[in-house]
Amino acid sequence: MSKPVLTAVAWPYANGPRHIGHVSGFGVPADVFSRYQRMAGNDVLMVSGTDEHGTPILVQADQEGVTARELADRYNKVIVQDLQGLGLSYDLFTRTSTRNHYAVVQELFRTVHRNGYFVPRTTMSAISPSTGRTLPDRYIEGTCPICGYDGARGDQCDNCGNQLDPIDLINPRSRINGETPIFTESEHYFLDLPALADALGSWLRTRTDWRPNVLRFSLNLLDDLKPRAMTRDIDWGIPVPLDGWRDRPDKKLYVWFDAVIGYLSASIEWARRFGNHGQPDPEAWQRWWHGGDEQARAYYFMGKDNITFHSQIWPAELLAYDGRGAHGGTAGTFGALNLPTEVVSSEFLTMSGSKFSTSRRTVIYVGDFLREFGPDSLRYFIAVAGPENQDADFTWEEFIRRNNFELANEWGNLVNRSVSMTHKNFGAIPAPVVRTDADVALLKASEAAFATVGDLLGRSRFKQAATEAMRVVGLANKYISESEPWKIKDDPDRQGTVLHTALQVVDDAKTLLTPFLPHSSQKIFEALGGQGVWAAQPEIRTVTDFADDVEGVGVPDVVDYPVLTGDYAREQATWARRDIEVGTPLAKPTPLFGKLDAKLGETGPDWAPIG
Ligand SMILES: [Zn+2]
Repeated sequence: MSKPVLTAVAWPYANGPRHIGHVSGFGVPADVFSRYQRMAGNDVLMVSGTDEHGTPILVQADQEGVTARELADRYNKVIVQDLQGLGLSYDLFTRTSTRNHYAVVQELFRTVHRNGYFVPRTTMSAISPSTGRTLPDRYIEGTCPICGYDGARGDQCDNCGNQLDPIDLINPRSRINGETPIFTESEHYFLDLPALADALGSWLRTRTDWRPNVLRFSLNLLDDLKPRAMTRDIDWGIPVPLDGWRDRPDKKLYVWFDAVIGYLSASIEWARRFGNHGQPDPEAWQRWWHGGDEQARAYYFMGKDNITFHSQIWPAELLAYDGRGAHGGTAGTFGALNLPTEVVSSEFLTMSGSKFSTSRRTVIYVGDFLREFGPDSLRYFIAVAGPENQDADFTWEEFIRRNNFELANEWGNLVNRSVSMTHKNFGAIPAPVVRTDADVALLKASEAAFATVGDLLGRSRFKQAATEAMRVVGLANKYISESEPWKIKDDPDRQGTVLHTALQVVDDAKTLLTPFLPHSSQKIFEALGGQGVWAAQPEIRTVTDFADDVEGVGVPDVVDYPVLTGDYAREQATWARRDIEVGTPLAKPTPLFGKLDAKLGETGPDWAPIG
């Protein structure tokens, strides 16, 4: 039976173009999952957008001499194009600088505050002596008091990974001009995580089927729950919606408080724009957010550096909004909201053994990659060799090997020779006459793969799922080699039966591989006589922000911006065998996957860093 499935994809940060390490953590796994769920008949809502607040945007904008908004506008457009190019089938990919998002975030803040889960506290805030302006945490660096690393930032030490306060740093200095900040008292709102600890723990302990590393990490977080600041001394972000706070230019909500609320605000924006078959239906988001796991499932996809925010901060915000912590309370205007069904986190993709890094030029941008190689070979690499359960390494050598041997030799060649032999000898799909044991065994194995691969995809075991689908391809290649249809021209019945069997398995395999390779599966669908859309792709549309949502100081102007959305209901892909139709004319096929020059394996393309 059809179930609402929310695919909540981590929000790429709009301070630059995204690299292939980013999309291997959130984008591709989430899309493979969503495409499978749609094919299996579930009602998918896949949402995300660019994350545009916080200090890194400000730092980058300062360096480039533009405003934070201008910087976010620029990279929002770049990221939207890259994600469309990769074929990520978002129902809505939006951004956090919309008035809709501001309104939803402020509603959450007000209700969490009313329910008693924000505690005010005085902290020491850093001020620049030369300008008198607040210096946000990340603008400050110094020596880590825990490990002694000299480049620690005010919010965190990249060397030992500990969270810090700027005042803890030894020899703190401004990253802008090197001066020593002065510290003054500053008032902030802290989320009362200790009051939500029991509720968080009860919920987490029911999540037994998560990836073990994610569950272990999340449970460990419970041991050290302290109130956590959800406002910041910064002038770029969402205003704090309380009297005495909302008009202050130097106080905004913490970027992480607002970014995770994006899953809800994007669902609401989707409903307001496209909720009823592409037409507005403002209440349509509720199916994915009410009634708990029984009514709707919610899967959150991200890299491991974001687990804390999805298995602790976001559920804590939801529990506080719903009034389910130690202080009680009642839900606000959105009603009681569902917690994540699963936090599906990937590990890191490294580049020839080291971390992707823009500054060290070990980085491959998604846009560059797509221009050179197209989307499906990258999608495949990430699914089959990506960082699903442990850190994985991208090397050009391995990428070329996977492309040439698995996609071109194994899969592309199976399609090509089955279709071209049929075209040459019959011109159309021949009828099977008498099936041998070998024919029947292959057909059975191929059909059985729908259950195995589907079960793995439903549990986000992408590596195993891709391997199982490719096993069917291997069986079909072996079958053709052993049956040698090119040698049995004098027995057209047998030759036709072999080719019919091979084509049926090609059709099965193209369905099994659709979540990974939607673009090439569409081409195979057409090569086998299919018409229309097999696997739908996202499109970019320009929309106008809602005028009536929020007012006041620091609220975004009503502007146009690009979103990703798509008409996925029209796609014909379903998760089951389709019997191929005897008599369908087949044309001479064109190769699906180009073979790449093996020399690229040593150097990479000339625009890419040397691995
Ligand atoms: Zn440290």
